[in-house]
Amino acid sequence: MRTALATFLAMIVAIASLVAVFAAEPAATSGRKPTASAPRAAASAATKLNARTVSVHVYNKEGELVGPVESPKVILSAAQWRRRLSAEQYKVLRAKDTEAPFCGDLLDNKKEGVYSCAGCGLPLFSSASKFNSGTGWPSFFQPVDEENIETHPDFTEGLPRLEVKCVRCKGHLGHVFDDGPPPTQMRFCLNSASLKFTDAEHLADLADPAADSNANTKSGAAAEVGADAAVTSEAGVRGGKNTATETSTGGKRAAQPGAGNDSATSGGGDGPTARAPRATATQTKEKGVTESDKTATAVFAGGCFWCTEAAFQQLRGVSDVESGYAGGTEATATYEQVSTGRTGHAEAIRVTYDPAKITYDQLLMVFFDAHDPTQLNRQGPDIGKQYRSAIFFADDEQKKAAEAKIHDLTEHKAYGPRRVVTKLEPLVKFFPAELYHQDYVLHNPLQPYVQGHSVPKACSIQKRHPELIDPEKAVKPVGY
Ligand code: FE
Repeated sequence: MRTALATFLAMIVAIASLVAVFAAEPAATSGRKPTASAPRAAASAATKLNARTVSVHVYNKEGELVGPVESPKVILSAAQWRRRLSAEQYKVLRAKDTEAPFCGDLLDNKKEGVYSCAGCGLPLFSSASKFNSGTGWPSFFQPVDEENIETHPDFTEGLPRLEVKCVRCKGHLGHVFDDGPPPTQMRFCLNSASLKFTDAEHLADLADPAADSNANTKSGAAAEVGADAAVTSEAGVRGGKNTATETSTGGKRAAQPGAGNDSATSGGGDGPTARAPRATATQTKEKGVTESDKTATAVFAGGCFWCTEAAFQQLRGVSDVESGYAGGTEATATYEQVSTGRTGHAEAIRVTYDPAKITYDQLLMVFFDAHDPTQLNRQGPDIGKQYRSAIFFADDEQKKAAEAKIHDLTEHKAYGPRRVVTKLEPLVKFFPAELYHQDYVLHNPLQPYVQGHSVPKACSIQKRHPELIDPEKAVKPVGY
C-alpha cells in the first residue's frame, strides 16, 4: 500500500515537472520565442474562460503557418457535435474515449503534412515531429505551436496523466508524457480519430479565415472603423473584416458579406450598444426598407441558419447576413432554448440588401431554392419547429410578394405532389444569434456538417442562379 502511494505521488511529481518544463521551455521545443500563454495548462485556460476568441497559429492561403491570430472559439452543443462528427470522432473528441491501440488509420501514416483537429480544423501537429513510439497510437514530440493546444491534469482510470486538448474547440486529443525522444523528451500520444491529415502539398486547403481577418486588422485598414470598433469585445477578429476592409483592401475578404456581424450578445438583444459600428440601416432594421441608406432587410427561416446564411452571403447586392432567431420572445432567444423547439423561434437569417441591385422577389427565389419548403418543421436531419420553413414579413409589400411566390410555386407544381408548407409570419423582432453562429461557414469551412450540407447548398444556388452571384463572395468547397 505504501509502495503504491509512493508511486502515485512520484507520478504526480513527474506530471508537475512535465507541466513546469513544458511551460518554461517552449522555445527549446519549437524554436519559437516563449509566450506567456504557452502552453495552455488548466490555470491559464481558466483565465480565458470568458473570452470569445483564442490566440492560435493557423495556415493562410499560401499554405504558411501564421500567427498568433485571434480565432473565435468553436462552441457547440452535444447535439451539434453529434451531427457534425462521426460516431468514432465524437467518442474520442467529445466523450474523451481512447481508440484501441494499433487500430487508428493515422498510426502508420508516414506522409509529410499536417495533422489538424478533426473537430474544428485547427492545425495541431506536423509529420516532422511524428515518431514511432511503439504504443499503438500516433505519437509526436511537439505541436506545431504551443498555443494551439492546452493541457489538463487527468486522474481518470486511476492514473495521473496530462490530457491534451485542442484550444479552439476543446476537443480531447490524447495525453502527453515525458518519455519522448529529443529534442523535447515529450510524447504526445494521440488518437487518430481526433485528427485529420493534410498532405504537405495541400496546406493551402487549411487556410483559416482568421489568417486573413487578423491580417486586415494589422494592416492598418482598421483606421476607417474608428475607436468604437476597437473597444468592441469582438474587435480582434471581426472588426478586421468589417467596414475597414470594405473601404481599403478590396480583396475577397473585404467583399465577404456578413462582415460586420459583430453581435456581442449571447442570445438576443438588438440594441446598438451591443454591436460594433455597421451599416446605418441597423437602426431601423425591423422595417423592410430603411430610410437612411436605401438598403432593405428580409428575414427568412429555412432550416439551419448556417446553411441559409452561407447561401445568401454570396449574392450580389447583399451587404450583410446575420444568423438569429425570429418568432419568439427575447427571453428565449438563445440557442440552447431555441433548440428545444418550444420557444416559437425559428433559426432565421436577416438579409440586408440593396433593392437596386437585387430585389425581394429574387431573394424569395433564392430562399425557396436554398431549402426544401415542403418539409414540415424540419430540414433533412434537423428536426423541430425551430427548423420550420417561414418567411417573416416586415410589411404588407413583403407579405404580398411572399404570398404571390408561394401561389406561383403551387400553381406550377414546382415540387410535384408535395405541398409548400412555408409559413408567413409577421416579423415582430429579429434576435441575432450568439457570436459563434455568425459567419459560421466562413469560420468553419472544414466542419463535416458544413462540408456535407452548407457548402453543397450554397454551391447549388450558384448553379441555379449564376446571375445573382458575386464571384468574389461565392462559397467555395474546401478539402477536408
Ligand atoms: Fe479543435
